[in-house]
Amino acid sequence: MGKVMIIGAGGVGTVVAHKVAQNPEVFTEIMMASRTKSKCDAIAADVKKRTGVTIQTARVDADSVAELVALFYEFRPELVINVALPYQDLTIMDACLKAGVNYLDTANYEPKDEAKYEYSWQWAYKEKFEKAGLTAILGCGFDPGVTSVFTAYAAKHHFDEMHYLDIVDCNAGDHGKAFATNFNPEINIREVTQKGKYWQDGKWVETEPHEIHMPLNYPEIGPKESYVIYHEELESLVKNFPTLKRARFWMTFGQEYLTHLRVIQNIGMARIDEVEYNGVKIVPIQFLKAVLPDPGDLGENYTGWTSIGCRIKGIKDGQEKTYYVYNNCSHQAAYKETGAQGVSYTTGVPAMIGAMMFFKGEWRKPGVFNVEEFNPDPFMEMLNKHGLPWVELHDIDLEL
Ligand code: NDP
Repeated sequence: MGKVMIIGAGGVGTVVAHKVAQNPEVFTEIMMASRTKSKCDAIAADVKKRTGVTIQTARVDADSVAELVALFYEFRPELVINVALPYQDLTIMDACLKAGVNYLDTANYEPKDEAKYEYSWQWAYKEKFEKAGLTAILGCGFDPGVTSVFTAYAAKHHFDEMHYLDIVDCNAGDHGKAFATNFNPEINIREVTQKGKYWQDGKWVETEPHEIHMPLNYPEIGPKESYVIYHEELESLVKNFPTLKRARFWMTFGQEYLTHLRVIQNIGMARIDEVEYNGVKIVPIQFLKAVLPDPGDLGENYTGWTSIGCRIKGIKDGQEKTYYVYNNCSHQAAYKETGAQGVSYTTGVPAMIGAMMFFKGEWRKPGVFNVEEFNPDPFMEMLNKHGLPWVELHDIDLEL
């Protein structure tokens, strides 16, 4: 059906490459480009070994619009899957507009010098994409991504009005390291050390980091201490589902992880400003990334499951209703299939499915969209087929 370019060759890029190659009837030609070409080559070689499919590779600095445009003109992709870092979202979108390429990502734009993310920067591109007749699909990983589609599916099929949404994200896996992050450490640490925030009665309520917490029971896993943090899909979900009175995001953290995180912060290693060391300017959190385990290498010894879903309360046919939809993903099964751990897998598979939705014409219209603005049904069907099956529970105690 079409030519696709993957930008970024980390853990998520690895999974996207494998899943795209597994569907050659949709993705007829594939290129993977990133800052370090050797990483693309290694992924392409593994994909070739497992599927027989050839992936072309290239080096690109995605901070440079000119480099991106030159590469787009050379390969002429119809769609770019951006799984580099959130810092590159706007340059890649600019290059897409210049070269007439459609766009998909899994994380919203963040400026490098400020630990802050919001959709405003990317939503501001709406008119430009409309005028160019191009589609931009934002936030198509698991959370954001599948959690947003789960919410849209619930609204479409199970509720007349949704009132309370709790997104619950549990990683009950064990990678055997004292401390490691499951995706890019810089992005991850910036996300989990910020203040908490949730939506209540038409406004945002801010909390201290990890201030609100309680044990929640996760299917097949059991109770895990879960913490309210701010997560980007809340911003678009409360806008697109205005009947929501409250929307929160919960994530599980182990005590060991939180202790390490506290130490990292207390000793200044989470700082994102430059400090001078031996006459060289370094950013502590970037130095920390260099010495922490590479999330891409965690897969081999990773055991256990992730469990991510949406717990929703609202009204259907005049009656109060509760609904829980979730996916459990095995780290080991993910590793066996793609060589990457479960967190990369749960992000990369939805990115591939979103791209498939684009090429099949299901999610294709000019403008900039969050995934919950599209029809959730064909995406939900593909989750079951491509490695992330979901389970629904009706009228249960949501604990929240
Ligand atoms: P990694 O750090 O493992 O990989 C990032 C890749 O992007 C690396 O290959 C890196 O290159 C490349 N890159 C960074 N800067 C540039 C640049 N300027 N030009 C070209 N390539 C660049 O990250 P992950 O794979 O763990 O995560 C990828 C994305 O997925 C992130 O944006 C993350 O926020 C998002 N994510 C989304 C989730 C969701 O559920 N929605 C969950 C988890 C992650 P190099 O190898 O040279 O460093």
